[in-house]
Order: sequence, then structure tokens, then C-alpha cells
Amino acid sequence: KLTYGRFVKMLGCAASAITEAKDELTELDSQIGDGDHGTTMVKVMETVKVTAEGYQGGDFKGMLSAVGMAVLNMGGGATVPLFGSLFSGMARAVPEGAAELTKEQLAEAFKSGEARLLKFSKAPLGGKTMVDALTPAVAAFADYGGADIAAALEAARLAAHEGCMKTKDYVAHFGRAKNLGERALGIPDPGSVSVSIIFKAFAKSAA
Ligand code: ADP
Ligand code: MG
Ligand code: MG
Repeated sequence: KLTYGRFVKMLGCAASAITEAKDELTELDSQIGDGDHGTTMVKVMETVKVTAEGYQGGDFKGMLSAVGMAVLNMGGGATVPLFGSLFSGMARAVPEGAAELTKEQLAEAFKSGEARLLKFSKAPLGGKTMVDALTPAVAAFADYGGADIAAALEAARLAAHEGCMKTKDYVAHFGRAKNLGERALGIPDPGSVSVSIIFKAFAKSAA
């Protein structure tokens, strides 16, 4: 099972990993976007970390809901409402008052978060967005047989990484990169790199 305390640590670890990758994310977004993705992701993940660490209730549902709200209230470009809806969507599927989650419950939370993000995103798989890393990661986590959360997160990490690498071969249809057409080929989507970094940090800090 995943304890509440462990999950807060996982979110902190993801925030640190994004901070370390800030320049890389900025560079990628400068090539196929407007160059603010590193700065935005650091702000998003700092808000996630600070809100999760500051939440006093000790239950997953209330914490995820507070995190989602805090991110949505930040305002900003494309990523802010997408990540806000991811966390809000996760909160919806978590049982009231739960201080630990089974692998199945975490899988349901991820699926619910993904569904809510997709409602806002409208991007299909292969659209060269963060969806290309998130959807495979959530599916790999859910499809992993057995109750071992760290092992399922390792499968999710790998799927996110593969999904992110595939975005190099895609022409963008969503977000700013769509204006670049074929010039975006060879460059991975910055948002999918962020998702991949977050799952890598989750997998590393889950065990
Ligand atoms: P902005 O594009 O507003 O400057 P960011 O630079 O922070 O915002 O984020 C860019 C990333 O947001 C893209 O790399 C892509 O992954 C993601 N993105 C943009 N639009 C969408 C969308 N409709 N659905 C999913 N992800 C999207
Ligand atoms: Mg940008
Ligand atoms: Mg922008």
C-alpha cells in the first residue's frame, strides 16, 4: 500500500526533479514553443509540493483536491489548467478519508486524473502533447499485474519515457508547436518530457 506520507515525499521528489530539469524544459519549449515551459513547470510543481506538505488533513482526497485547486488558481498557459485538472481528477476517485491507497485505488485515481485532463486537453494520442506520455503511463500502471506499487510505477515510468520519445516523430496539432509543422520533427514535446520526469521521480521515490 501507498501511505500518505510516502506520496507527499513522491510529490516533493517530482518537484525537485522538475527544478533540476528546468533549463532542459525551457530549451525544448524555446525550440518548438515560446520558451516558458521550464519556468511554468517549476512553479506548478512548487505549488504542488508546498500545498501537499502544508495540508493538515492527512487524507489523500482532501490533499489532492487542495493541490488541484491551488494549481488551477495559479493561472497561466496551457500546462497550468492541465495539471490542475489532473490532480482534481485524481481526488475525485479516491475514497473519502483514505490515508493509504492500494495499487488498484491509485490506478483508479490516475485514470480519473487522466480523464479530467483529457476533457480540457482535447488532444488525441499522437498529437505531440503531454498526453502522449501520460496516457501510456497511466495504462501501464493500471495493467501491471499484482499489488506492488513501486513495480507498477516502474512500468509507468518506462511507458512515459517511451511515449515521450515517440513525440519526436510527431508533427504537433495542439498547443503552440502546431504552427511549426514539420520543423517540430526530431524534438520531443516539452510537456511529455515533464510527465516522463515526474513518473521517473515517482518510481525512484516510491520504494
Ligand atoms: P504554453 O504552451 O501555454 O506556453 P507551456 O509551455 O507550459 O504552456 O506548456 C507547453 C506544453 O503543454 C506542451 O509541450 C504540451 O505538452 C502541453 N499542451 C499544450 N496544449 C495542450 C493540449 N491541448 N493538450 C495537452 N497538452 C497540451
Ligand atoms: Mg510554452
Ligand atoms: Mg506560454
